[in-house]
Amino acid sequence: MRHLEALHSAFPEAVSSEQYLARVARLVSPLGFAREHSFAAVSVCRDELTQSFPDLVARRWDQPFSLGGLGALPSLGRTGWRAALSHVPLDDDRGHLIVFGLPHIGIDPEGNIGQSLRRHQLEPTPTCGAMAALLTSLRNGFEPLTPGLDDNEAERLQRIVDSQSDQLPDNLLELTKLAASAVNAEMWVELDALAAYKEMDIAVFCGIQIHLPDEVDFIYPVASAFMGSDGITKELVI
Ligand SMILES: [Zn+2]
Repeated sequence: MRHLEALHSAFPEAVSSEQYLARVARLVSPLGFAREHSFAAVSVCRDELTQSFPDLVARRWDQPFSLGGLGALPSLGRTGWRAALSHVPLDDDRGHLIVFGLPHIGIDPEGNIGQSLRRHQLEPTPTCGAMAALLTSLRNGFEPLTPGLDDNEAERLQRIVDSQSDQLPDNLLELTKLAASAVNAEMWVELDALAAYKEMDIAVFCGIQIHLPDEVDFIYPVASAFMGSDGITKELVI
């Protein structure tokens, strides 16, 4: 089971998605997040491998709002964030919003981190494809844009990951960890800009979604925090 060895050595704190969501529920329950009046928003990459996570969130918290673009960077813009926040139900005049942001990475049957053997394919392909493309561009330089070709999600991913560090890492694992921090920062930038805490309690959970060959995904936690009506961010230990 080389993929399990790779999982435990690269992500010793990772737990299955189900366990992760159970821990999240245990953490936010004492903060007043009950299923019937809490609202979830999820940012995962567009890759089909990521879609089991929103399904699990839906089972626990009802259908989530979709925030994500390539690399799990929220791609909905200010208008989309306003729409998401306007859907949060009220409980005694206050909402409860749980936000998940999870860049992803695959581990293939040989234990190689950063690729997945997909259904009915003979060779593994990169996961995350967008992060792998970013890594290639960092190594080999960025291709000039073809006029008229819109690649704005990939460009934004590059810009926002780049803003996290003066020296970007040269391997996909470290770059993905940096992306999870970038996604977390981006969530709070948007939530702060819209002063969401004035109307709702907010919990943001970011990490890395890890795909294994046997279809059970794992989550490696990177950042977890809560903001209540005082507008102060408090770290949560998951
Ligand atoms: Zn991806």
